[in-house]
Amino acid sequence: MAVRDLDSLLSEPGVQGRRVFVRCDLNVPIKEGVIRDTTRIDASLPTLRKLTAAGARVIVSSHLGRPKGQRNEAMSLAPVAAVLAERLGCSVDFADDCVGASAETGAAGLADGQVLLLENLRFHAGETDNDEGFAERLASLADLYVNDAFGTAHRAHASTAGMVPHVAHAAAGDLLRGELAYLNRLFEPERPFLCLLGGAKVSDKLGVLEALIERADAIAVGGAMAYTFLAAEGEAVGGSLVEPDRFDDARRMRARAEEKGCRLLLPSDHIVAASVEAADASQTVSQIPDDALGFDIGPETADRYADEARAARTILWNGPMGMFEVSAFASGTEAVARAVAESEGLSVVGGGDSLAAVNQCGLGDRIDHLSTGGGASLEYVQGLTLPGVAALDAAAEGTS
Ligand code: AMP
Repeated sequence: MAVRDLDSLLSEPGVQGRRVFVRCDLNVPIKEGVIRDTTRIDASLPTLRKLTAAGARVIVSSHLGRPKGQRNEAMSLAPVAAVLAERLGCSVDFADDCVGASAETGAAGLADGQVLLLENLRFHAGETDNDEGFAERLASLADLYVNDAFGTAHRAHASTAGMVPHVAHAAAGDLLRGELAYLNRLFEPERPFLCLLGGAKVSDKLGVLEALIERADAIAVGGAMAYTFLAAEGEAVGGSLVEPDRFDDARRMRARAEEKGCRLLLPSDHIVAASVEAADASQTVSQIPDDALGFDIGPETADRYADEARAARTILWNGPMGMFEVSAFASGTEAVARAVAESEGLSVVGGGDSLAAVNQCGLGDRIDHLSTGGGASLEYVQGLTLPGVAALDAAAEGTS
């Protein structure tokens, strides 16, 4: 991989006085105009600070939510401008469109070290359609390009891929480069290498499961996806969430894991209830009754998975072990979060729910790497090409 990094752009061709288009991931949760969590803004600051300190004229862009090509004030990036200004300690202008007159005037009026934030890229369908004309309009705003939006690097959109061939120089920002550096370590892991995979559906994680069986020493499965594996073997799962159309895949993966010597671990006890509403009357069982649903891994399973995590030298965790948003079903996910934090090996955690669980337990600073892109990190670790990274690669090779 020949992706150019930000430091190389800063030294050659240099950024002082040049307009730099920075694709960030500022997709923060906003309710009634108030930002509920600034993690993604904070993660973007190192790159932005380096650029402003070097005297670049910085044009920041991002998507927010899924406005589907329509202007939607509830998904405006305007509230983000104020937070950026406060964190960067400088004024941040806001252009109420990412292309057209306001963006062009704003970009042309920037002084060295100043910042302009563009309105939500996805107010234009050309962004997600990767429309050539729209990509060219974005590229015309700047001389140089930096992609720091790891969370959308697995999408071939105008701002992540389409515009890159239209700029003179393109580089990866510090956040994107850091993500790749950590995820690359999972390709040659120190062993034992443990993957903890949870969440709702096997179908979402099929690709990553298949790829990791080839590389991991053990894969511990939790969340509703575990019930598809158990049901495929004829075990009782009551009314738990299962995907019968994935039973064959589940059996095939167990067989492949056995062939490869990868231990595929499944829950041996469960926290069940008659419904989510009956969470207060939840019970721990080793066999799920017909009239109950499994909502979390049980304490014995949590202990087994925690022991694995403490012994591992490399851990990748993506997806909650149960319906952790409900406190009665959060203990499995919390136990895993604590064990991953305690492990002395390299720990990489991705996916919004796993990050939320880690932060809920106040353990964020004890994990080696919290990935800002759940989907992108899963695609990357299974060896897929991320279009955002491929575009930078091509630019560095001079083939763009
Ligand atoms: P995913 O987006 O696939 O990572 O799934 C995350 C969602 O799976 C969370 O909202 C969890 O509440 C949900 N989930 C995890 N375990 C279970 C379960 N046993 N039953 C129902 N939902 C679950």
